Amino acid sequence: MGAKILDGKQVREQILSELRPRIAKLTATHRPPGLAVILIGPDPASEIYVRGKIKACGELGIYSEKVTPPETIFTEELLGIIEGLNQRSEIDGILVQMPLPKQVDSRRILLSVRPDKDVDGFHPVNVGCLVANIPAPRACTPAGIMDLLRRYEISVSGKKAVVVGRSDIVGKPTALMLLHQNATVTICHSKTVNLPEECRRADILVVAIGRSNFVTRDFIQPGAVVIDVGQNRGADGKGLVGDVDANAALELASAYTPVPGGVGPLTIAMLMSNTVQAAEQHVCSG
Ligand code: NAP
Repeated sequence: MGAKILDGKQVREQILSELRPRIAKLTATHRPPGLAVILIGPDPASEIYVRGKIKACGELGIYSEKVTPPETIFTEELLGIIEGLNQRSEIDGILVQMPLPKQVDSRRILLSVRPDKDVDGFHPVNVGCLVANIPAPRACTPAGIMDLLRRYEISVSGKKAVVVGRSDIVGKPTALMLLHQNATVTICHSKTVNLPEECRRADILVVAIGRSNFVTRDFIQPGAVVIDVGQNRGADGKGLVGDVDANAALELASAYTPVPGGVGPLTIAMLMSNTVQAAEQHVCSG
């Protein structure tokens, strides 16, 4: 049991404490930052996520608004709501909680959020900025992972990084961010041949696949840094279980993000950070 625990809760507190004076300054000189969260339908997980985001805003002094259109809403009506939020100067960030109801065209909705208010970093313009390494809102979970590595002074440059999972919200943006920090990056997915061997090459192994305890000791090079992004329901339906077998990581890795308490707490912190940054840019340009 040698791995250093990378404590996401502690890092979250650091991030939030650095945001507080920026929020206070914005509030004193202009107005508080503002975040609108759109939640449609009764998905329990989405409700929990949205509650967490609104609560974080309240604790920091960020103005927040929860918009809850009916589950029967159609794309055009939702586009109208987003356009209204795009126009409002006191709203700096717009977050559309996924998944959306089947009848709504998620792609059109994603495209309709003004890129400078896209605090999730999902708009193709912002994804393009990430690819080109141009400053813009970045996807929150990957940005949180990079911030965690930075704060723990884990150097990335020249390291072999393996990212397992290629989703638009975690795997791909994390791989790009690691690349921009000069890691040599391999992206693995469900069609990767001999996944354990690929993973064993990693100095930094990031796992985001959504399968409980999938990554076992065969996947981990002794001394690797293991970042477990997985948030899976425990076998009893309660609690959270990562994608990485915790005992294997604790034994073999040099550093490891536990689940819960590793990457999870950073996502909302980075959302708050993106919202404050958007507000600073809006008041400067407004
Ligand atoms: P996703 O969209 O379902 O993508 C999963 C990825 O994993 C896909 O690229 C898939 O490959 C790959 N994959 C699935 N099974 C695999 C296997 N057996 N071997 C290799 N690759 C496999 O998931 P996601 O949204 O990225 O989320 C991944 C995990 O991170 C989930 O547990 C989620 O809850 C968690 N998460 C946590 C946070 C946080 O705040 N901490 C935020 C977001 C997500 P293919 O592309 O080939 O299908």
